[in-house]
Amino acid sequence: RAHGGGVAVDASLRTSDPDVFAAGDVAAAHHPLLDTRLRVEHWANALNGGPAAARAMLGQETAYDRVPYFFSDQYDLGLEYSGWAPPGSYDQVVLRGDAGKREFIAFWLRERRVLAGMNVNVWDVTEAIQDLIRAGTKGVQVDPDRLADPSIPLGDVTRP
Ligand SMILES: Cc1cc2nc3c(=O)[nH]c(=O)nc-3n(C[C@H](O)[C@H](O)[C@H](O)COP(=O)(O)OP(=O)(O)OC[C@H]3O[C@@H](n4cnc5c(N)ncnc54)[C@H](O)[C@@H]3O)c2cc1C
Repeated sequence: RAHGGGVAVDASLRTSDPDVFAAGDVAAAHHPLLDTRLRVEHWANALNGGPAAARAMLGQETAYDRVPYFFSDQYDLGLEYSGWAPPGSYDQVVLRGDAGKREFIAFWLRERRVLAGMNVNVWDVTEAIQDLIRAGTKGVQVDPDRLADPSIPLGDVTRP
């Protein structure tokens, strides 16, 4: 049992018993990119964790390293959140878009590295946001002014 609840598993979703695996809400998995143990109690994690555990059961080299993600719809507001930015982990929040119109992306940064992003009523940006998060785990920094500028495609933010 993991500290804080859940079944403790490694990055291949295997417990301390090599014949027992856990995926989905119940799994507290070591995340190889974020280097921390996480419980991601959301739909996409349940969808993708099962096949990853199955690959590990079949003896394939498996590291379940998807960027944590969830979606939610609150009346006329739809949002997607990617990454992991618990309280105290970030030193800056950057907004791109118009929060007043409820169409924006919020980014959580630490030392100019993107930890997490949440798109609100803005669509088809999850992949680009997750690319920035993955780059951040490798130490790639962003210019907050470029990140906030909607005229610069997200994919170009880290380019000089
Ligand atoms: C109200 C609500 C709204 C949500 N909205 C969102 C959302 O907007 N976006 C999002 O990303 N996620 C959302 N989620 C979370 C998402 O639904 C869960 O993360 C996902 O369903 C987890 O899937 P799972 O298969 O890991 O667990 P579960 O769906 O909980 O499945 C576990 C299954 O195991 C069974 N079980 C338990 N104990 C035993 C036992 N001893 N023996 C046999 N079977 C057992 C249970 O009956 C259950 O069927 C929401 C959840 C709730 C409750």
